[in-house]
Amino acid sequence: MTVEQFLAEKTAKTDTGFLCLECGRGFASVQGLKVHARDLHVHRDASYLCPVCRRRFRTRNSFGVHVSVNHKHMKGVDLHRFIMQ
Ligand SMILES: [Zn+2]
Ligand SMILES: [Zn+2]
Repeated sequence: MTVEQFLAEKTAKTDTGFLCLECGRGFASVQGLKVHARDLHVHRDASYLCPVCRRRFRTRNSFGVHVSVNHKHMKGVDLHRFIMQ
């Protein structure tokens, strides 16, 4: 889901601003809502950061292959822990 899709489907206009329907938070400006949606609800730009060589990977799969080939001592660790937003 993109930020634009999220704004169209999961937010609503209120008397005082905008409301995130996903978590119930209110925002005075659409800009604030956008940043909130991008940071908390839309993970399109998430990537994995390798702690050993600081390389970034777009997918869990490519990061997993990288770890198993280059950093065998990390094998078995939960790759989810290395997600960067
Ligand atoms: Zn929210
Ligand atoms: Zn690495």
